[in-house]
Amino acid sequence: MDYEGRRERLVARLRREGLAGMLVTNLANVRYLTGFTGSEASLLVTADRSVLMSDGRYEGQIRQECSGLEVAIRRPPMTWVQLVARQVRRMGLIQLAVEREHVTLEKYELLREALPACTLVATQGRVEALRQIKDRDELAQIRQAISVAESAFVSHWAAWEPEVSEREWADDLERQVRRLGADGCSFPPIVAGGAHAALPHARPRPVMLGESDLVLVDWGARWNGYCSDLTRVVPVNRISPKFEKLYDVVLRAQQAAFEAIRPGVPVDEVDRAARQVIEQARLGRRFPHGLGHGIGLEIHESPRLAPGQHQRLKAGMVITVEPGVYIPGWGGIRLEDDVLVTRSGCRLLTTLPREAHAWLVSF
Ligand code: ZN
Ligand code: ZN
Repeated sequence: MDYEGRRERLVARLRREGLAGMLVTNLANVRYLTGFTGSEASLLVTADRSVLMSDGRYEGQIRQECSGLEVAIRRPPMTWVQLVARQVRRMGLIQLAVEREHVTLEKYELLREALPACTLVATQGRVEALRQIKDRDELAQIRQAISVAESAFVSHWAAWEPEVSEREWADDLERQVRRLGADGCSFPPIVAGGAHAALPHARPRPVMLGESDLVLVDWGARWNGYCSDLTRVVPVNRISPKFEKLYDVVLRAQQAAFEAIRPGVPVDEVDRAARQVIEQARLGRRFPHGLGHGIGLEIHESPRLAPGQHQRLKAGMVITVEPGVYIPGWGGIRLEDDVLVTRSGCRLLTTLPREAHAWLVSF
C-alpha cells in the first residue's frame, strides 16, 4: 500500500486550503495513512514531516508495520495532549487542522490550552474524501473480503438445519469467516427469521430458523482491515405469492440503481432510481433507510447514498446497493450487493445469485 503517496495527497489538499498541518485522530484514517493497525495512535502530518504518536504498548508493532515513519511514543506520566503539543511546537506550526468528528470536546479544549500560539482549525472528512476512491491494493482486499464472505455463506447455507437458531447461525457464520482467513466479520451478522426480519437491523435471537418462512441474513467479512457487506433472504420450504411479489420489487429496485450508477451522477439520484420502483409498488413507506454506503476500512464510509445527499459518484468508489421493504408482522426483504463505480458505469463485485429461488431451503 502506498502510504507515503496518500500522505502527500493529503498535504496537497490541505495546502490548497491554506493549512500547513493536520492532526489525524480517526484510527481508520491513521491506518489508511500509515498502515498501523493498533487501537491507539494519532498522526501529525505536514509537508516535510509526519509523526505517528502512540503509547508504549505499540512501540514494537509500529516498528513492524510502519518502518521508515517517524514515531513518538509517550510514556507515563506524559499525557496524549502533552505529546501532541510537544510535536506541534517542534514543528513550529501556528495553525493545525483537527478532525472535528474525532476529537472529544475535552481533548480539543486541553489542546487549545496547551498550544496558545497555534490556531486549531476544525475540519471534516479530509482523509475520508481520499479514502472514497479505492486504489488497486485496496480493491484487491475488498474483493477478497467479498469472496470470503460469499464462500462462508454458501457452505453454511448448504448445511442448514431447522433446529439451528438465529444466534447460532450468526455465530457459525462468523466462525466460518475466520476459518477462511479473514480478520472476522465486518460487523455482527444479522440473522432474522420471519417477522423479525421486519426490523432492518434485527439482532439474532435464540429462535429456531425452521419456525420461519424466510430468513434475512446481512453479513460481511473483514480482510486486512477491508470490509464487505452483503444481504440475502433465504425462503424456507416455499416461496409464497407475497414473498415473490415483494422480492421482485426489491430486485427491480436494485437493478434500477445499478443502471443509474456512473461517475458524475449525484448519489441521491441513484437512491431515487431505486426508491421510485418501490414507490410505484406503493411500498415507499416500507423503505425507511438510504440505498447504500461506501465500504472500505470502515463498514460505513462516505459516500452515503440517501435522499438529500448531493455528492457525485466518482470512478473508483466502492458502494453497497441495498434496497429493502419491511412489513411489520410479516418480515422483510433486503438485497445488498457491493459495486465498483467504473469510468462508464459500475461493476458488480459480489457474485452470489440474487434470485430468491437460488436460496430456497426445504426441510
Ligand atoms: Zn449489510
Ligand atoms: Zn450495508
